[in-house]
Amino acid sequence: MIYLDYAATTPLDPRVLQAMLPHLTADGSFANPASTHGPGYKARAAVERARAQVAALLGAEAPEIVWTSGATESNNLAIKGALEFNGGHNGRSPHIVTSRTEHKCVLDTCRHLETQGVRVTFLRPGTDGVVSPEQVLEALTPETVLVSLMWVNNEIGVVQEVQRLAPLLRERGVLFHVDAVQAAGKLPIDLRVIPIDLLSVSAHKIYGPKGAGALYVRKKPRARLAPQMHGGGHEWGMRSGTLATHQIAGMGAAFEIAAAQLQDDARRVAGLRDLLWQRLQALPRILRNGDPQRAAPHVLNVSFEGVEGEALRASLPDLAVSSGSACSSATQEPSYVLRALGRDDELANASLRFSLGRGTTAEQIEQAAESVIKQVQWLRELSPLWKP
Ligand SMILES: *Cc1c(COP(=O)(O)O)cnc(C)c1O
Repeated sequence: MIYLDYAATTPLDPRVLQAMLPHLTADGSFANPASTHGPGYKARAAVERARAQVAALLGAEAPEIVWTSGATESNNLAIKGALEFNGGHNGRSPHIVTSRTEHKCVLDTCRHLETQGVRVTFLRPGTDGVVSPEQVLEALTPETVLVSLMWVNNEIGVVQEVQRLAPLLRERGVLFHVDAVQAAGKLPIDLRVIPIDLLSVSAHKIYGPKGAGALYVRKKPRARLAPQMHGGGHEWGMRSGTLATHQIAGMGAAFEIAAAQLQDDARRVAGLRDLLWQRLQALPRILRNGDPQRAAPHVLNVSFEGVEGEALRASLPDLAVSSGSACSSATQEPSYVLRALGRDDELANASLRFSLGRGTTAEQIEQAAESVIKQVQWLRELSPLWKP
């Protein structure tokens, strides 16, 4: 089996596992990090070390990192929390600007807020997948509380212009939230120079454990949020709940490793991605989705004309790739991201997202390319749709 689905999740780095193990059992620092006794302080120290490690990858201060259960929760907290705290004070409906190619957890949070009287603009990107800063600025109204835009798209790997957009939103006094799950550890991020207010990250997309994430909440100027999880007042009141020391220690280790290897990882993985695209050129009439000039290193999304999506995936049982779609468990709908780029249903469905990572080798890429080429050629021969 060749695993090319690193954008869906990654295995733990063995060093991450080692960092997690001392925080689980009686001989380790299993105590509640909020407890005010020796063992509690020890667990707390592990949590704070990890906070500094996560902050370091982002160019943030440690107290700006709020632990969550993952980026789905981070995105919910950022968007609902910002709207609840900052919205609707003048009696008018507050407004959010986002895009149609965001992760489901951003889209569905925004749709939920629409049922609560919030107005949402879902911008359509260009056919290259890019949402221009000008488009965002044009959509702003006096009621706009928040813009939420992802840094790197998880399906097509397009890098959005968040660096150019951030200062423009700051000038206009609009909060800026960025889902940086697919950017962290892949691209340099320095929040000291980019005025983003809220930024979501996840551990399991960069060789950390599932079920751990964080929300960066800027201190200067302070981004204000209403908590969405009420309880003991942990995390400066922004997210109650006993901290999962082992998960957090693992996330910290994963972020530290990612910082140390960022450039090497990115260069190597981008090279393999380019090799894959080059090999696939043996097939006529394939389309690369997303602007190749604005591509993150680890994602290649390709549409294959003249084949049926389901048949293509079924013909590749030894290849763990995702269909272009973030297919929600049961429904096999064509990807809404590719649809937003203007691909028709058929082509959107006949797409594969290859996402590469630290375990990917050149041999795997050669093998994967060979299988895909063979199966696409075979399916095209069979297809009544295919006219060479
Ligand atoms: C995976 C992913 C998420 C969700 O993260 P979880 O930690 O799994 O909840 C959000 N946004 C993007 C872009 C992702 O790729």
